[in-house]
Amino acid sequence: MSSISDAVTARLVIMGPQGAGKGTQAALLAERLDVPAISTGDIFRANIKGGTELGRTAQSFTAKGELVPDSVTNAMVRDRLGADDVSRGFILDGYPRNAAQVTELDAILGDLGVSLDAVIELTADRDELLARLARRAELEGREDDTEETIARRLDIYAEQTAPLTSAYASRDLLVQVDGIGAIDEVASRLGAALEPHLS
Ligand code: AMP
Repeated sequence: MSSISDAVTARLVIMGPQGAGKGTQAALLAERLDVPAISTGDIFRANIKGGTELGRTAQSFTAKGELVPDSVTNAMVRDRLGADDVSRGFILDGYPRNAAQVTELDAILGDLGVSLDAVIELTADRDELLARLARRAELEGREDDTEETIARRLDIYAEQTAPLTSAYASRDLLVQVDGIGAIDEVASRLGAALEPHLS
């Protein structure tokens, strides 16, 4: 029997509000499909920690829970998607986050001569998300996991990012998955929903 692990290429976006388990599911799926998980948030955090110029630019925005300007983010993603290790695919986590980034991602992939196979949306209600984010704040101590920035990030997601799913739905790319449940339960739900999109 074929499974998603047999897919030759897998070019995926994973969307969902902060706390929906995107990072965890992206990492599991990346391992299963043997493609890199690319998290724009992780790249910004690594640059902030490393004290790079990109990190210094990003920090003033990430610390407040605001989006880093598109000019900075788009250039970073274009550069990352041009690397050799993404020739068989990728799981993009945290990008695109607004309409301009959807357009830019199309342009980047068009220039590379490839296209998306699917866009996964992990769903969870706000109360569950707030509870999970409070737990993560305790465990990880992220600078942007304060009550105020969490609320700001969830608002930005609802206003700018969630509406993007309809554009992907109209292209028949959207795969919606309930993000509530144990990690392996959600992972198998996700795998089953994704199967028809990968060959
Ligand atoms: P995340 O870990 O995905 O929640 O990202 C952490 C922070 O990095 C966000 O709150 C933004 O400040 C910034 N960031 C990550 N991805 C993007 C993006 N696609 N566009 C703009 N800013 C981003």
